[in-house]
Order: sequence, then structure tokens, then C-alpha cells
Amino acid sequence: MKYGIFSDVHANLEALEAVLAKLVEQGATRFLCLGDLVGYGPDPNACIERIRSLRARVVAGNHDYGAIRRTSTAGFNQAAREALAWTGKQLTRHNRLYLENLPLADVRDSIHMVHASPSAPDRWEYVLTLGDAEDEIEYFSETICLLGHSHHPFVVECPSRGRCRLIRTESFRLSPGAKYVINAGSVGQPRDGDTRACCLLYDINAATLTFFRVPYDIATTQEKIRRAGLPESLATRLSHGY
Ligand code: ZN
Repeated sequence: MKYGIFSDVHANLEALEAVLAKLVEQGATRFLCLGDLVGYGPDPNACIERIRSLRARVVAGNHDYGAIRRTSTAGFNQAAREALAWTGKQLTRHNRLYLENLPLADVRDSIHMVHASPSAPDRWEYVLTLGDAEDEIEYFSETICLLGHSHHPFVVECPSRGRCRLIRTESFRLSPGAKYVINAGSVGQPRDGDTRACCLLYDINAATLTFFRVPYDIATTQEKIRRAGLPESLATRLSHGY
């Protein structure tokens, strides 16, 4: 059985379709989404509906709750706030209800899912460094904690004894007894300098995880952002991957 794992789609339908095609081609039959389905991008309803069609396990991101005002948008930057106000007006009643009902955490089958951090998923803090990840290990008992939020893919492995370490390879095998903090990167707005959409495949039987970077039609997404009247910076940043 293979899980397709992705995060931070941010209403970028072209990137989402590219990632799903890759994951299906690689044999994924179940899907895990780590939040921020909407915000920044031009296709909030279509992205929510596509993810719903997968029957994916999904947790809420700060932009999902921000778009429906379940989280205050005061802490967001100007462009993000503008995009959230626009998104809130676009959402259908059905999709608004769907976002409202997304949980902050989902824990099943040895996988702990949150958008931000397992210690306080409602505070939207970033897990960015090896030290941050080490601090989070005691807040989940499952083998793997999957998260998103920073849009920077990374993997930290913590053996049952000894120090945690960063794993820098695209593909790795789970070590028996170890725990993992894994950031799935971002589908719709990568910020690690690579403009391609990011996703992850978890092969349960082989105990391997593999990152994929998938090219998509950035120009089309940018055109839609401009046509919707969203801030120009949200279009240009997709060409730079930050
Ligand atoms: Zn995000």
C-alpha cells in the first residue's frame, strides 16, 4: 500500500493536478493532505473539490481557517490577507463547511498529521530546524509526524537512543524503532528555491519514503492570479520558488 502525501496546495490547481498524476503513476492509492488547501492561489473551490474526490485524510492549515475567519487574519502579511478576503468570497457554502470541519490533527495507522506542530497545532508555529523537530518528538507517539506550513521539505530521524539527524536524500528507508518529523514541502507555492511542486510517496510495505519534485504549468496559474485581481507578488513568487 502506498500513500501519496502533500501539503500547502494553496489553491494552485495546475500544481495539484501535476502532483496527483505523479503520485498515482507511482502507485499511490490513499492520500494524506497536511492543510492550507486554499489561500494565495486562484482556484480554491476546484482544489477543495479535487481533494475531496480523493477521500483524502486532511488536516486544517492556518489559511483554511483564516479564509472562513475561524482563525484571525491579523497575523498574516498584506498579500496573504488580501488573498484570504478574496478566497472567503469565492468559497461555496459546501466548501466553506468542509474547511470548518477539518481537524487540527489526525492520528491513525502510525501516522500523526498536523499542519504546523504536534505540540500546539492551533498556534501555527513553524518547525524549521533540527532542534525544533527534536523538541516536538515527545508530543507524538506514532512512528511518523507529517507536517507542512513552512513550505520547506525536510526529514528528521530520531533513533530510540542517540541524537536526531537530518536526512538529506530524496528517498530513505525507515529504521526500526526510530521516529520521524517530516515536512512534505508545498505543492502550490514552494519556497526552497525550487519552483516545482513538491510531494511525497510512502510505501508502507517497503518502509520507504520518497520525495518528488514535479514541474507544472506555472504561467497558467500566474495568469489566473492576475485575472482574479490577486496581488501581483503572489504570481511572480511562483517563478522564483520562494
Ligand atoms: Zn502554507
